[in-house]
Amino acid sequence: MTTATAPTSATGADRPGTLRLDRFARHPLTFGPSPIERLDRLTAHLGGRVEIFAKREDCNSGLAFGGNKTRKLEYLIPEALAQGCDTLVSIGGVQSNHTRQVAAVAAKLGLKCRLVQENWVDWYDGVYDRVGNILLSRILGADVRLVEQGFDIGFRPSWEEAMEEVRRAGGKPYAIPAGASDHKLGGLGFVHWSEEVRAQEAALGFSFDYIVVCSVTGSTQAGMVVGFAADGRAERVIGIDASAAPATTHDQIRRIAQRTAELVGLGRDITEADIVLDTRFAAPKYGLPSEGTLEAIRLAARLDGMLTDPVYEGKSMHGMIELIREGTIPAGSRVLYAHLGGVPALNGYSYLFRNG
Ligand SMILES: *Cc1c(COP(=O)(O)O)cnc(C)c1O
Repeated sequence: MTTATAPTSATGADRPGTLRLDRFARHPLTFGPSPIERLDRLTAHLGGRVEIFAKREDCNSGLAFGGNKTRKLEYLIPEALAQGCDTLVSIGGVQSNHTRQVAAVAAKLGLKCRLVQENWVDWYDGVYDRVGNILLSRILGADVRLVEQGFDIGFRPSWEEAMEEVRRAGGKPYAIPAGASDHKLGGLGFVHWSEEVRAQEAALGFSFDYIVVCSVTGSTQAGMVVGFAADGRAERVIGIDASAAPATTHDQIRRIAQRTAELVGLGRDITEADIVLDTRFAAPKYGLPSEGTLEAIRLAARLDGMLTDPVYEGKSMHGMIELIREGTIPAGSRVLYAHLGGVPALNGYSYLFRNG
C-alpha cells in the first residue's frame, strides 16, 4: 500500500461500481483533466457513421510534453517521497518516452535521475541516440547510460546494477520498472483516467462505446480495464498491441489488472474476457512501423493535425482505423482514441518521412 493516504471516503467502500482510488495518494504532475476533442475530418473520412474522439495525453502536462507515464508516476511519486528517496532509477529503450517523463518529473521534484537505455530497436537513423526523447532526458539532467541489451519488458540485471551504483554512491534509489508498469501502484494512474473520462462523459451528455489504447508494458490498459469494469465496460477497452510479443503483453495486462482490481476494491476478479488485445498491428517488430503504421500517421496528421509516432500511437491509430473500416466497431458507435503521447520519438525516424 502507499503512504500519506487520504482517508477512505465513507460513501464509496461498499457500493458496487465505486472504486476506492482515494485510498492512494496522488502527486499532481499534469495540467488537470486532459482534453477530449472530436476528430471531425477523420470521422468524415471514414464515412461518418462512427464518431471519433481523442483524449490527449500527448499534451497533458508541462513536464517535457507529458504522456501516459506522467499519469502513472502521479501514483508512484508519493511513495518515493515518503521513503526519502533522492534518485529515480528507470529503464527503457533508447527512444523511451517513459524514461524521458521520469527525467522531467525528477527535475521538477529536485530529485536525481539515473536511466538505463537499452537497445530495444534495430533502427539506424544516424542520430537515433542523440535526438528526440534521449536528447530531452539529457537536457533534463538525467544520468543517461546506453547498454546493449535487447527488447524485453520484464525484469533486468542492468537496472539492478544501476540501483546498486546509486546506493554505493550514497544515494537512495527509487525503482521504477519499464513503463512504470510492473510496480504495485502502476495501474492506478489509468484507473484515475477512467474516472476522469466518466466525469467528462457526464459533461458531454453521452458515453463512449469503445476506448482504443496502445499496449506494450500493459499498465495503461490494465488501469482502464479496472476503471471501466466498474461500469461494465471492461471489454469495450480495445488494446492494440505494439510489442509484437503479445503473449507477454497480454499476461502482464491481466496480472496488473488483477492486482489493481484488488487494490481499489473492484469487488470481482479480472477474467480472460476483460482483456481485449488486437495483435494485428504490431508488425514488423516493436519500434518499427509497417506501411499501415506510416499511412495512419500521415492520415491523422493531414486530416486533423494530430501527430502520432511509429512506435506506439501510429500502430493504435492504424488499428482503430481498421476496426472501424471492417465494422468491428459498428456504425453508430462513439469511439475514444487514447492518445498516449510519444511524438518526440518521431525525430529518431526522420528518414522515413524524408519525402513527407
Ligand atoms: C509507453 C507507451 C505506450 C504503452 O503503454 P503501456 O502502459 O506500456 O502499455 C503507448 N504509447 C506511448 C506513447 C507510450 O509511451
